[in-house]
Amino acid sequence: MPEPIIKVKNLEITYNKGKENEFVATRGATFEIYPEEYIAFFGPSGCGKSTIFYSLLGILEPSGGELLVKGENPYKYTPEKMVHFQTSTIGIIYQAFFLINSISVIDNVALPLIFQGVPPNVRRKRALDLLKRFEVDSKADFYPDNLSGGQSQRVSVSRSMVNNPDILLADEPTGNLDSISTKQVMDALEEINQIDRKTVIIITHNAAQLKYCHRVFYFKDGKLDRIVPNPEKKQIAKVDKTKILVTEMEQLSRLYPYNPPDDLKVKSLVNFLTQELTLDQVQRLENAIRMMVDRKTEEEKFYEYLCADFDAGGVGLNKARARKITDRIVKILKESKDIQRYRRRLLHGDLFTNQDELVNKIREYLMADYGGKISPEQRAALKTAIFDRLVGNFRKEGFEKRLNTPLKDGGVGFNSQTAYNMTLHLEKMLIQGLETTGGGH
Ligand code: ADP
Repeated sequence: MPEPIIKVKNLEITYNKGKENEFVATRGATFEIYPEEYIAFFGPSGCGKSTIFYSLLGILEPSGGELLVKGENPYKYTPEKMVHFQTSTIGIIYQAFFLINSISVIDNVALPLIFQGVPPNVRRKRALDLLKRFEVDSKADFYPDNLSGGQSQRVSVSRSMVNNPDILLADEPTGNLDSISTKQVMDALEEINQIDRKTVIIITHNAAQLKYCHRVFYFKDGKLDRIVPNPEKKQIAKVDKTKILVTEMEQLSRLYPYNPPDDLKVKSLVNFLTQELTLDQVQRLENAIRMMVDRKTEEEKFYEYLCADFDAGGVGLNKARARKITDRIVKILKESKDIQRYRRRLLHGDLFTNQDELVNKIREYLMADYGGKISPEQRAALKTAIFDRLVGNFRKEGFEKRLNTPLKDGGVGFNSQTAYNMTLHLEKMLIQGLETTGGGH
């Protein structure tokens, strides 16, 4: 096995050290990253992921522990060597791109080469080659503020690669992008890892992106909580892949008796990465939700059960979380009743009574979560889209597409995130509104 390219031991990073507002953002992180690995830093906002990034980049000196990149402590470098390190050993791309708007796209990409004393014609050629590779060369002579988000990020990727660094850091690179641009950027990073054989470290909130990585570093409250290898990837580091899966398999097969073992493995990892709950807690939560869906319990009892200590037979959630879950479930069940009414009328051919009022109501439920401004034309278009989904004129994907299509092309004109959120919300109402034996009234 090769030597680690990054070695971190008991790393501690403190903001405002010695001042009244001193804050320890990273405590005791220990990890090693190997050349050509693709690593994800994953975890809730504020848990210290970016802090470690800036420390790796040489701009935030650790207050304790050890940090070595390619066997050296960058904080010991002379200023000249530090510039070389920051432009040639490590490349970085940011969520907000950070392109310079007063110079052209190609000059943005070529800029880091100036610090290396590369002659202008070579700089231009190398920058243009990268822009071609990431399919933004048609924008080479434009200014960055004329670019879409996806194009801007592909320019940043080109800039980060211009000095051929060993390590690429990507700080939520797709946080501002739509789904098509996200895929292009994720494909570019994968290519940089697999074809260029660079070490890539990405900060992401998006669980769907973890599949690209060799290992996931899960952060929690300023600590590296666990390291999870991706079973789909041939590992570079030495890991014990099976430990978690085997011990949980039995429990999972009780929770999901009809799922094949492969699905259970996936569920185990998803549960591990996205929830703080143990599988025992998940099981109790599911039972409680079933009681609510069947309307065999009421709001306050449900809430109390969620808060009650696990040892006392409850789910063991904290009060704030229990309240949030209770409120959301009560809300969605109430909303789904209107869907049920609507479907019943539809079934009896009684579509005209109060049809408008019900569709309006559903629209208001969706709008309440949205909170943004909406024009009268959009309101009307949203109503038609809801109607079409309710009577089955199109499926979930069709509804989402309609919301995300511009008004002038017959859509509702929402951005992709809003379209996604509203579709999800409506689908939750729809599924709860389905008539099942013993279901709601
Ligand atoms: P993440 O990237 O996981 O969202 P960050 O590394 O940005 O988290 O932040 C970790 C913690 O450090 C947060 O509580 C944040 O408020 C705090 N923090 C970040 N930057 C500073 C700073 N410049 N001064 C003081 N505290 C900071």
